[in-house]
Amino acid sequence: MKSIFTLICLIIITSSTILAQRPNIAVIGTGGTIAGTAESATRAGYSPAQLTVDAILSSAPQIGEIAEITGIQLCNISSQAMNSTIWLKLAHTVDSLFASGNCDGVVITHGTDTMEETAYFLNLTIKYGNPVILVGAMRPATGLSADGPMNLYNAVSLASNPVSRNKGVMILMNDYILSADDVTKTNSVNTNAFECPNYGPLGVMRGGEPIFFREPLLKNTITSEFSISEINSLERVDIVYSYADADATAFDAFIDKGAKGIVIAGVGHGNFSPAICSAAAKATQRGIAVVRSTRIIRGGVTTDLEEPFAGQISSYYKSPQKSRILLMVALTKTDDPAEIQRIFREY
Ligand code: ASP
Repeated sequence: MKSIFTLICLIIITSSTILAQRPNIAVIGTGGTIAGTAESATRAGYSPAQLTVDAILSSAPQIGEIAEITGIQLCNISSQAMNSTIWLKLAHTVDSLFASGNCDGVVITHGTDTMEETAYFLNLTIKYGNPVILVGAMRPATGLSADGPMNLYNAVSLASNPVSRNKGVMILMNDYILSADDVTKTNSVNTNAFECPNYGPLGVMRGGEPIFFREPLLKNTITSEFSISEINSLERVDIVYSYADADATAFDAFIDKGAKGIVIAGVGHGNFSPAICSAAAKATQRGIAVVRSTRIIRGGVTTDLEEPFAGQISSYYKSPQKSRILLMVALTKTDDPAEIQRIFREY
């Protein structure tokens, strides 16, 4: 009798220890299709950003078996409305969760349209090696075969696993683990919507467990020199798109609006029209940072500060939208083109 009692006590203690050992994961809701609903489970139209983060979590109750979850609703928007004010609030929230010592990892539910931008901003600014995973969905929560619940389950599992520490901010979509420095949305409708076009995925999820292939070598999070702890706004930086016939109207308008930096989404290896060339040369002389990026998805722009682009910064493998973020963050420290060029090589 006594030994049965001892056995029962042991089982209770062991199972409560296992429960107590579950990692603490904060799931921060920001909106997007993962929180979207539709009248029809099969037709295309739906409204994004309708459900709370707690409602999304309840669609995958198995998540409670992996981790102790705290849901935080930061905002509830379509990600085409994302902005740098929310990025700063998000980065401050994530940093303070980790600073508390009670949070092992963070998952952020997010619209897919600008998810890569938020991920890259956090990759440059979060000061901890704890996992930070962004996740979304291409089908609304009410869709037939919605992809959100499985993506969220995988994201929480990835954030809970110690192997995910010190790998920078990651996106989890469609079983792929994608590094914030290279990931981009490459399909506007399919569930397999994200790729890392230059370096390939970091890994995959199989049966809810991560399998990593490689580590990011570019600086991020704990190796980043940037801190936004005292920063509440960022300088204006705009993107000028290149195409046949492009003149300098947009370039000049952005400067008139007070842009401190311009990223050119160039053609090919960061080339642009004669009109934009002369606008860019004038802007560089006035001390405005000009970054040469490319509208091409692979290959980047890798010729530093060379003629005929003297004083202009090459984006390396950053897309125009990520170059804009890196320039905004770099401008918190320096406006020296040579120093900004170093930053573009290292991040
Ligand atoms: N427009 C939506 C958003 O980015 C798309 C999505 O979440 O997939 O919020």
